[in-house]
Amino acid sequence: MEKIIRIAVQKSGRLSDDSLKLIKECGIKFYNGTGKLKSTATNFPIEFLFLRDDDIPGYVADGVADLGIVGENELVEKDKKVQTLKKLGFSKCRLSLAIPKGQTYSGLSYFEGKNIATSYPKILGDYLTEKGINAEIHEISGSVEIAPSIGLAEGICDIVSSGSTLMMNGLKEVEEIFTSEAVLIANENLASWKQEIVEKLLFRMNAVQKGKSNKYVLLNAPNHALDKIISLIPGMRSPTILPLAQEGWSSVHSVLNEDQFWENIEELRAAGAEGILVVPIEKMVI
Ligand code: ATP
Ligand code: MG
Repeated sequence: MEKIIRIAVQKSGRLSDDSLKLIKECGIKFYNGTGKLKSTATNFPIEFLFLRDDDIPGYVADGVADLGIVGENELVEKDKKVQTLKKLGFSKCRLSLAIPKGQTYSGLSYFEGKNIATSYPKILGDYLTEKGINAEIHEISGSVEIAPSIGLAEGICDIVSSGSTLMMNGLKEVEEIFTSEAVLIANENLASWKQEIVEKLLFRMNAVQKGKSNKYVLLNAPNHALDKIISLIPGMRSPTILPLAQEGWSSVHSVLNEDQFWENIEELRAAGAEGILVVPIEKMVI
């Protein structure tokens, strides 16, 4: 049998584009025609299953898929036994409680004895238990926001990103109960040959992630300022210094975290740096 691992990704929705983009950035090529439920990479031993996100934790727990990409909200809600290998930094959202706009919110006790509609009964139930609130949870699978206006519930608990859907339905957000982003999950009992392939994939994902948070910086500096400038942008091992054609000047090349760059920009300029270029890095292996 050919040695190949299987990853479950969302077929279409708010996770799919970024999941597939990450895999492509890892240099993995595959055909992704619309409507296809399975696809095999042409240059890496991995096969894709395109599924509804609700089913991904279960498929990975059962070993139908070895890996999966899913939101933490869905992962915690489904409560399946899988391992989380990595946070992926996309599909960030929050799960919040919301009530009709006109109501006065007095704190969590507002929900005591009330009826709350949600697609996340486990996360909400655990939260309410922890806070000592007794409320009735009404599970519905979609369009949760209309529940209060049709008299189905007095409040809701749902995913919020900008809040505009809440507003359109006459609701206001009152408590954030959970924050979520996409994660890479794995079956808990992977055979060692599968683990080796997973390690290769993780190595590539880490290189892509590091590349994104770091920048390649080039600048010109008078030679007398080099010590100061090197201390501000120390780089991976140390910066590259190249002489400019103009006597007494050098070009300094370094790699640094984007936040670190913005923190140091004023000091760099004060030290005499000029002609500063900041270039994206595609991949970074330390
Ligand atoms: P499926 O048909 O696969 O079941 P779905 O309708 O359940 O899809 P989507 O709306 O595509 O789910 O959202 C998938 C996941 O993306 C959510 O579970 C959540 O983790 C995340 N997500 C949801 N809304 C947003 C948002 N507005 N911004 C960023 N991420 C979001
Ligand atoms: Mg879903």
